[in-house]
Amino acid sequence: MKLKSILCTFLCATLILGSLISCIPQKEPEPQSESYYQFFDTVSAIFSYAGDSEEVFKENAKAVSSLLSEYHKLFDIYYEYDGINNLRTLNKNAGKEPIKLDAKLIDFLLYCKEMYTITGGKTNIAMGSVLKLWHDAREEGLDEPENAKLPDSKMLQDASLHTDINSLIIDKAAGTVLISDPKVQLDVGAIAKGYAAEKAAELLKERGATSYVLNIGGNICAIGEKTGGEGWTIGITNPDKTSDEAFACKVKIKNTSLVTSGDYERFYTVDGKRYHHIIDPETLMPSDYFSSVSVFVSDSGLADVLSTALFCMSYEDGLALAEKLGAEVIWVRQNGELLMTGGVEIVKN
Ligand code: ADP
Ligand code: MG
Repeated sequence: MKLKSILCTFLCATLILGSLISCIPQKEPEPQSESYYQFFDTVSAIFSYAGDSEEVFKENAKAVSSLLSEYHKLFDIYYEYDGINNLRTLNKNAGKEPIKLDAKLIDFLLYCKEMYTITGGKTNIAMGSVLKLWHDAREEGLDEPENAKLPDSKMLQDASLHTDINSLIIDKAAGTVLISDPKVQLDVGAIAKGYAAEKAAELLKERGATSYVLNIGGNICAIGEKTGGEGWTIGITNPDKTSDEAFACKVKIKNTSLVTSGDYERFYTVDGKRYHHIIDPETLMPSDYFSSVSVFVSDSGLADVLSTALFCMSYEDGLALAEKLGAEVIWVRQNGELLMTGGVEIVKN
């Protein structure tokens, strides 16, 4: 990953971490915390507000770190690792033969297929070939802004013929997966961090943790609540970077996950117009309904799936889907207008 990209992700993530820390009332002790820089090309952190002993916190942080490391390797589409088959191995073998995969990866792929159905195809991990064209055009455009170009539209159309989720054939009993179309590639960027955060939260709960917050590259997962029953205050980043206001609004959360998809973190500029990284499967272009969509729902994997899906659909369609799934949402339009569902707890300054 390019340094500027790492730096961008780091700054976005620290903004949220900073807001978490700055919101602790004076009388409360500082939370225990540990940060990780080696997973999912982003910054992650674990915070305990439970007053655990140092030993307990360190053990919990270590357990989370090894779980994230495992998922990081399994989900990697750029590198392979000794002794395991991962998504890179699976992509390389598209159109060839079924690959034996770890049960954790098989469960994840089954989950992704289910999420495709739930979101009406808006969050589609089989869009890798389309997403790669955008990814490469963006990287080249960031390297040489004067030559920045959109992906070739004929190549986009051709790639879009190879995004069928049904070409992902999973045999759970045999422990194998085949991508039947040689041109279908998986990209799990829309789901991976939230799913891993959910698994890390489950692990922490099994270990008896209460009053923890996980931040996996901006995917926030609150386990329990602060002592005294209060929620944590989190800033929703203001997509308008020309504004002095860092946050579009602040919210209180407890016992829930919060994931934001936005147009302001990863983008490049062609002929003065910005093109970001969340691609509407229907238009094959960066979705332009909103500047950001934040989803609050207990399951962090679902929050991540929905943040991407709702970013790619109208307010009306997104609201209907959110209501069906019991999620709360904040939409930020390009003109700064905020829309939200009824259960969002806004913090007034
Ligand atoms: P972020 O990764 O910035 O937190 P998202 O969760 O919305 O934001 O995921 C965006 C990533 O997911 C993109 O970088 C790309 O890899 C992938 N992606 C983009 N559009 C889609 C889509 N419609 N369906 C599935 N994956 C997508
Ligand atoms: Mg997402």
